[in-house]
Amino acid sequence: MDERAELIATAQAMSAIGLNRGTAGNLSCRLRKDDREGFLITPTGMDYARLEPGDIPWIGLDGRHSEGKRPSSEWRLHRDIYAARIEAGAVLHAHSPFAVSLACLRRDIPPFHYMIARFGGDNVRCAAYALFGSQELSNAALSALEGRSACLLANHGMAVYGGDLEQALALGVELETLCEHYWRASLLGEPVLLNAREMAAAQEGFGDYGQQASGIEPP
Ligand code: 13P
Ligand code: ZN
Repeated sequence: MDERAELIATAQAMSAIGLNRGTAGNLSCRLRKDDREGFLITPTGMDYARLEPGDIPWIGLDGRHSEGKRPSSEWRLHRDIYAARIEAGAVLHAHSPFAVSLACLRRDIPPFHYMIARFGGDNVRCAAYALFGSQELSNAALSALEGRSACLLANHGMAVYGGDLEQALALGVELETLCEHYWRASLLGEPVLLNAREMAAAQEGFGDYGQQASGIEPP
């Protein structure tokens, strides 16, 4: 599958999984073009079900776009993540229901579950509020992303990045799931938080978690 087809398939999966409804959210993947650093991104305001490869715009890290339709209004957020994080191969922004609910409380998600460590630290921060599509929103998100691969966006949604589209989608699903669990646990009381030592051990455990050994396994 080429990059545009993969971007469309992943954007459609976001809707199918329930991370997005309507035209909320956006998705991008890093792609070099003619020796220029840049990325492909979903066009603004378009229903993912109707996207064609020719609709997908390419944007250089200098902010100039070519090909396809008008890019997502959040292109600055995507551009700034690619510029700041060499390891980012795909960026996902969603208005998923539980992430939005928590983002409206403008609170960081604390270490109530060891999977929080999956995003790089002891919490997932909530970025300060700023208008959608603004440079101010991107700046706020980048500071909330310090040492992390995900953040909430106050009164808005979530942003996450991964090494590729598949990983970004998996992390988006994981964060939404954690938001749901935190919300549910909070209904019953104050969740008990893991301490720094327990979170550091979880972080370490992710080092080789889920990786199948290569070569012949001993019987
Ligand atoms: P776009 O349709 O321009 O990508 O905007 C959706 C959105 O989520 C804005 O924050
Ligand atoms: Zn949005």
